[in-house]
Amino acid sequence: MRPYLNIGRRIGQNLLAQDCLLCQAGSDGELLCRACAHELPSVASACPRCASPGSGNVECGACIADPPHYEASYTAFAYAYPLDALIQAFKYGGQLALAGLFARELHRRIGRALGPDLIVPMPLHPQRLAERGFNQAAEIAKVLSRLCGIAMDAQFARRVRNTAPQAALPWRERATNMRRAFACVRDLAGLNIAVVDDVMTTGATLNEFAHTLKRSGAARVENWVVARTTRGV
Ligand SMILES: [Zn+2]
Ligand SMILES: [Zn+2]
Repeated sequence: MRPYLNIGRRIGQNLLAQDCLLCQAGSDGELLCRACAHELPSVASACPRCASPGSGNVECGACIADPPHYEASYTAFAYAYPLDALIQAFKYGGQLALAGLFARELHRRIGRALGPDLIVPMPLHPQRLAERGFNQAAEIAKVLSRLCGIAMDAQFARRVRNTAPQAALPWRERATNMRRAFACVRDLAGLNIAVVDDVMTTGATLNEFAHTLKRSGAARVENWVVARTTRGV
């Protein structure tokens, strides 16, 4: 049996999970046992700007040819099994405690060379927020704010257009779909901003958001994202 199935069974059970979410082995009260935590898929080498894998830790051709509005991207994991199942359990299965695990792993990846003045979660459109009940990026950002000792502000940026889900669109249409999707009501002059999100695919959403933050004066924008997709790049 694929361990994925265990997640579905665990959802809805009490929040005092004693066993590993993935394999149900004893985990000393942690969400994952050591073996499963060790096997989460990492990205060996990636473009420091867009986090696309396989570029040998130097800026990739796409970023050189058409630089994105953000300066850097940090990711904790590759968006592959079983991390994808954990993200699904987090977003749609009510496993909000996973925000802590994701944030700790991201924090470890980012390390001590922290420059941002402000942490900002990727905004969710109010309609989606009402449907889901929480903004998954804000849950992760809250923990990161505590771990890093950097203030979080989730109020000044809004999603003003309820865009079609990016996953439903061909990649080349995703940038167009996101155009003018955000509004920012705070003067960010000279600030270094860290944007927190759960999954980065083409980077079109993060790029449009970075563009919005730069138009409001942000000096530098970097992305802190739990998982980066590895296909099609
Ligand atoms: Zn396990
Ligand atoms: Zn790149």
